Amino acid sequence: MSGSKRCLIAGNWKMNGLLSEAEEFIAELRENPAPEHVELALMPPFTLLHPMNRPLADKGVTLGAQNVYYEEKGAFTGSICPRMLRDANCHYVILGHSERRSIIGESNAQIRSKLNAAWLHGLEPILCIGETLEQREKGITNHVLAEQLAILKGAPKDKPLTVAYEPVWAIGTGKTATPEMVVETHAFVHEELKRLGKDCRVLYGGSVNPGNAKELMACEGVEGALVGGASLKADSFMQIVEAAAETAG
Ligand code: PEP
Repeated sequence: MSGSKRCLIAGNWKMNGLLSEAEEFIAELRENPAPEHVELALMPPFTLLHPMNRPLADKGVTLGAQNVYYEEKGAFTGSICPRMLRDANCHYVILGHSERRSIIGESNAQIRSKLNAAWLHGLEPILCIGETLEQREKGITNHVLAEQLAILKGAPKDKPLTVAYEPVWAIGTGKTATPEMVVETHAFVHEELKRLGKDCRVLYGGSVNPGNAKELMACEGVEGALVGGASLKADSFMQIVEAAAETAG
Protein backbone atom coordinates (compact mmCIF):
# COMPACT_ATOMS: atom_id res chain seq x y z
CA MET A 1 0.00 0.00 0.00
CA SER A 2 1.37 3.43 -0.79
CA GLY A 3 0.91 6.55 1.28
CA SER A 4 -2.05 8.28 -0.35
CA LYS A 5 -4.04 9.72 2.57
CA ARG A 6 -2.83 13.05 3.91
CA CYS A 7 -3.04 12.11 7.61
CA LEU A 8 -0.58 9.45 8.72
CA ILE A 9 -0.14 7.81 12.11
CA ALA A 10 3.19 5.98 12.07
CA GLY A 11 4.45 3.78 14.90
CA ASN A 12 8.19 3.62 15.51
CA TRP A 13 8.93 0.56 17.62
CA LYS A 14 12.62 1.49 18.01
CA MET A 15 14.65 -1.46 19.44
CA ASN A 16 11.55 -3.18 20.84
CA GLY A 17 9.50 -6.15 19.75
CA LEU A 18 9.89 -9.91 19.74
CA LEU A 19 7.99 -12.23 17.41
CA SER A 20 5.57 -13.21 20.20
CA GLU A 21 4.84 -9.53 20.93
CA ALA A 22 4.28 -8.80 17.25
CA GLU A 23 1.77 -11.65 17.06
CA GLU A 24 -0.06 -10.30 20.08
CA PHE A 25 -0.12 -6.79 18.56
CA ILE A 26 -1.52 -8.09 15.28
CA ALA A 27 -4.20 -10.19 17.00
CA GLU A 28 -5.38 -7.05 18.84
CA LEU A 29 -5.17 -4.91 15.74
CA ARG A 30 -7.50 -7.33 13.95
CA GLU A 31 -10.21 -6.50 16.47
CA ASN A 32 -10.16 -2.79 15.51
CA PRO A 33 -11.90 -1.38 12.45
CA ALA A 34 -9.65 0.36 9.89
CA PRO A 35 -10.20 4.14 9.92
CA GLU A 36 -11.33 5.90 6.75
CA HIS A 37 -9.36 9.13 6.64
CA VAL A 38 -6.14 8.07 8.30
CA GLU A 39 -3.26 6.03 6.95
CA LEU A 40 -1.59 3.69 9.44
CA ALA A 41 2.05 2.66 9.23
CA LEU A 42 4.32 0.63 11.45
CA MET A 43 8.11 0.59 11.66
CA PRO A 44 9.10 -2.51 13.63
CA PRO A 45 12.75 -3.61 13.97
CA PHE A 46 14.29 -5.27 10.88
CA THR A 47 13.79 -8.77 12.32
CA LEU A 48 10.00 -8.32 12.27
CA LEU A 49 9.60 -6.86 8.78
CA HIS A 50 9.03 -10.16 6.99
CA PRO A 51 6.76 -11.79 9.60
CA MET A 52 4.65 -8.64 9.98
CA ASN A 53 4.40 -7.82 6.28
CA ARG A 54 1.41 -10.00 5.31
CA PRO A 55 -0.75 -9.53 8.43
CA LEU A 56 -0.23 -5.76 8.38
CA ALA A 57 -1.00 -5.54 4.66
CA ASP A 58 -4.22 -7.53 5.28
CA LYS A 59 -5.21 -4.86 7.79
CA GLY A 60 -4.27 -2.01 5.43
CA VAL A 61 -1.27 -0.95 7.51
CA THR A 62 1.75 0.30 5.55
CA LEU A 63 5.12 -1.16 6.51
CA GLY A 64 8.26 0.88 7.07
CA ALA A 65 11.78 0.54 8.46
CA GLN A 66 13.63 2.63 11.02
CA ASN A 67 16.84 3.13 9.07
CA VAL A 68 18.68 2.18 5.90
CA TYR A 69 22.25 2.26 4.62
CA TYR A 70 23.04 4.15 1.42
CA GLU A 71 25.23 1.58 -0.36
CA GLU A 72 23.72 -0.82 -2.90
CA LYS A 73 25.05 -4.09 -1.47
CA GLY A 74 28.25 -5.85 -0.42
CA ALA A 75 30.78 -5.71 2.38
CA PHE A 76 28.93 -3.52 4.89
CA THR A 77 28.49 -5.89 7.82
CA GLY A 78 25.41 -5.24 9.87
CA SER A 79 23.79 -2.90 7.35
CA ILE A 80 20.52 -3.10 5.44
CA CYS A 81 20.17 -1.61 1.95
CA PRO A 82 17.08 -0.09 0.28
CA ARG A 83 16.52 -3.11 -1.98
CA MET A 84 16.26 -5.35 1.09
CA LEU A 85 13.58 -3.05 2.48
CA ARG A 86 11.68 -3.11 -0.80
CA ASP A 87 12.01 -6.90 -0.77
CA ALA A 88 10.32 -6.90 2.64
CA ASN A 89 7.51 -4.72 1.18
CA CYS A 90 8.50 -1.54 3.03
CA HIS A 91 7.08 1.72 1.72
CA TYR A 92 8.54 4.07 4.36
CA VAL A 93 11.92 4.47 5.97
CA ILE A 94 12.61 6.77 8.94
CA LEU A 95 15.72 8.91 8.39
CA GLY A 96 17.49 11.33 10.70
CA HIS A 97 15.75 10.25 13.90
CA SER A 98 17.24 12.21 16.79
CA GLU A 99 18.39 8.98 18.48
CA ARG A 100 20.48 8.15 15.41
CA ARG A 101 21.76 11.72 15.18
CA SER A 102 22.78 11.89 18.86
CA ILE A 103 23.65 8.27 19.81
CA ILE A 104 25.08 6.97 16.50
CA GLY A 105 26.40 10.38 15.40
CA GLU A 106 24.67 10.46 12.04
CA SER A 107 25.41 13.65 10.10
CA ASN A 108 23.22 15.67 7.75
CA ALA A 109 25.51 14.59 4.89
CA GLN A 110 24.93 10.90 5.69
CA ILE A 111 21.20 11.49 5.97
CA ARG A 112 21.22 13.15 2.54
CA SER A 113 23.00 10.08 1.08
CA LYS A 114 20.35 7.88 2.64
CA LEU A 115 17.56 10.03 1.21
CA ASN A 116 19.02 9.62 -2.28
CA ALA A 117 19.42 5.86 -1.84
CA ALA A 118 15.87 5.53 -0.52
CA TRP A 119 14.44 7.53 -3.43
CA LEU A 120 16.45 5.55 -5.96
CA HIS A 121 14.66 2.40 -4.81
CA GLY A 122 11.16 3.81 -4.45
CA LEU A 123 11.04 4.22 -0.67
CA GLU A 124 9.33 7.20 0.97
CA PRO A 125 11.59 8.72 3.64
CA ILE A 126 10.11 10.09 6.85
CA LEU A 127 12.73 12.73 7.57
CA CYS A 128 12.92 13.62 11.29
CA ILE A 129 13.97 17.07 12.37
CA GLY A 130 13.91 18.76 15.77
CA GLU A 131 15.67 21.01 18.25
CA THR A 132 17.12 20.22 21.66
CA LEU A 133 15.83 21.97 24.79
CA GLU A 134 18.98 24.08 24.91
CA GLN A 135 18.44 25.22 21.32
CA ARG A 136 14.79 26.10 22.01
CA GLU A 137 15.77 28.06 25.11
CA LYS A 138 18.41 29.94 23.12
CA GLY A 139 15.70 30.91 20.61
CA ILE A 140 17.41 29.17 17.67
CA THR A 141 14.77 26.51 16.94
CA ASN A 142 13.96 27.79 13.43
CA HIS A 143 17.63 28.12 12.57
CA VAL A 144 18.28 24.49 13.62
CA LEU A 145 15.28 23.19 11.68
CA ALA A 146 16.26 25.17 8.57
CA GLU A 147 19.75 23.67 8.75
CA GLN A 148 18.35 20.14 9.02
CA LEU A 149 15.97 20.78 6.11
CA ALA A 150 18.75 22.29 3.99
CA ILE A 151 19.76 18.76 2.94
CA LEU A 152 16.70 18.92 0.67
CA LYS A 153 18.29 21.68 -1.45
CA GLY A 154 18.42 20.48 -5.03
CA ALA A 155 16.52 17.28 -4.21
CA PRO A 156 14.25 15.97 -6.97
CA LYS A 157 10.83 17.59 -6.70
CA ASP A 158 8.82 14.53 -7.68
CA LYS A 159 10.13 12.10 -5.04
CA PRO A 160 7.83 11.21 -2.12
CA LEU A 161 8.67 12.65 1.27
CA THR A 162 7.12 13.00 4.71
CA VAL A 163 8.74 15.19 7.37
CA ALA A 164 8.34 14.61 11.11
CA TYR A 165 8.90 17.55 13.43
CA GLU A 166 10.03 16.01 16.71
CA PRO A 167 11.36 18.32 19.44
CA VAL A 168 14.20 16.25 20.89
CA TRP A 169 13.21 17.23 24.44
CA ALA A 170 9.76 15.71 23.90
CA ILE A 171 10.88 12.30 22.64
CA GLY A 172 10.31 9.57 25.21
CA THR A 173 10.14 12.11 28.03
CA GLY A 174 6.39 12.51 28.53
CA LYS A 175 6.79 16.23 27.74
CA THR A 176 4.96 17.58 24.72
CA ALA A 177 5.15 20.88 22.93
CA THR A 178 2.22 23.21 23.65
CA PRO A 179 -0.33 23.59 20.83
CA GLU A 180 0.96 27.17 20.30
CA MET A 181 4.53 25.90 19.82
CA VAL A 182 3.32 23.15 17.50
CA VAL A 183 1.28 25.51 15.31
CA GLU A 184 4.08 28.07 15.11
CA THR A 185 6.83 25.55 14.38
CA HIS A 186 4.78 23.59 11.85
CA ALA A 187 4.00 26.84 10.02
CA PHE A 188 7.73 27.53 9.81
CA VAL A 189 8.51 23.98 8.62
CA HIS A 190 5.81 24.12 5.91
CA GLU A 191 7.09 27.51 4.75
CA GLU A 192 10.67 26.28 4.60
CA LEU A 193 9.64 23.12 2.71
CA LYS A 194 7.75 25.20 0.15
CA ARG A 195 10.82 27.39 -0.30
CA LEU A 196 12.83 24.22 -0.97
CA GLY A 197 10.26 23.02 -3.50
CA LYS A 198 9.07 20.14 -1.30
CA ASP A 199 5.51 20.86 -0.26
CA CYS A 200 4.99 17.67 1.72
CA ARG A 201 3.12 16.24 4.70
CA VAL A 202 4.47 17.18 8.15
CA LEU A 203 3.89 14.96 11.19
CA TYR A 204 4.35 15.84 14.86
CA GLY A 205 6.28 13.50 17.16
CA GLY A 206 7.27 13.49 20.82
CA SER A 207 5.38 11.66 23.58
CA VAL A 208 2.12 11.51 21.62
CA ASN A 209 -0.32 9.33 23.58
CA PRO A 210 -4.07 8.64 23.74
CA GLY A 211 -4.49 11.48 26.24
CA ASN A 212 -2.94 14.29 24.16
CA ALA A 213 -3.40 13.02 20.59
CA LYS A 214 -6.65 14.85 19.87
CA GLU A 215 -5.30 18.24 20.91
CA LEU A 216 -2.04 17.76 19.01
CA MET A 217 -3.67 16.37 15.87
CA ALA A 218 -6.09 19.31 15.80
CA CYS A 219 -3.22 21.82 15.51
CA GLU A 220 -3.00 23.63 12.21
CA GLY A 221 -0.25 22.26 9.98
CA VAL A 222 -0.14 18.87 11.72
CA GLU A 223 -0.90 16.02 9.34
CA GLY A 224 -0.39 13.04 11.60
CA ALA A 225 2.04 11.73 14.16
CA LEU A 226 5.19 9.70 14.54
CA VAL A 227 4.57 7.70 17.71
CA GLY A 228 7.21 5.83 19.71
CA GLY A 229 6.31 4.36 23.10
CA ALA A 230 2.54 4.51 22.65
CA SER A 231 2.72 2.51 19.41
CA LEU A 232 3.99 -0.62 21.14
CA LYS A 233 0.51 -1.65 22.28
CA ALA A 234 -2.24 -1.97 19.69
CA ASP A 235 -4.76 -0.52 22.11
CA SER A 236 -2.96 2.82 22.67
CA PHE A 237 -1.85 3.00 19.03
CA MET A 238 -5.46 2.62 17.86
CA GLN A 239 -6.70 5.21 20.34
CA ILE A 240 -4.29 7.69 18.76
CA VAL A 241 -5.51 6.67 15.31
CA GLU A 242 -9.12 7.28 16.42
CA ALA A 243 -8.21 10.72 17.76
CA ALA A 244 -6.57 11.55 14.43
CA ALA A 245 -9.57 10.22 12.49
CA GLU A 246 -11.85 12.56 14.44
CA THR A 247 -9.80 15.58 13.43
CA ALA A 248 -8.97 14.36 9.88
CA GLY A 249 -12.52 13.40 8.94
C1 PEP B 1 9.86 8.67 18.28
O1 PEP B 1 10.50 7.66 18.52
O2 PEP B 1 9.96 9.20 17.18
C2 PEP B 1 9.00 9.23 19.33
C3 PEP B 1 8.34 10.32 19.07
O3 PEP B 1 8.97 8.57 20.53
P1 PEP B 1 7.93 8.82 21.75
O4 PEP B 1 6.55 8.87 21.14
O5 PEP B 1 8.12 7.67 22.65
O6 PEP B 1 8.29 10.13 22.36
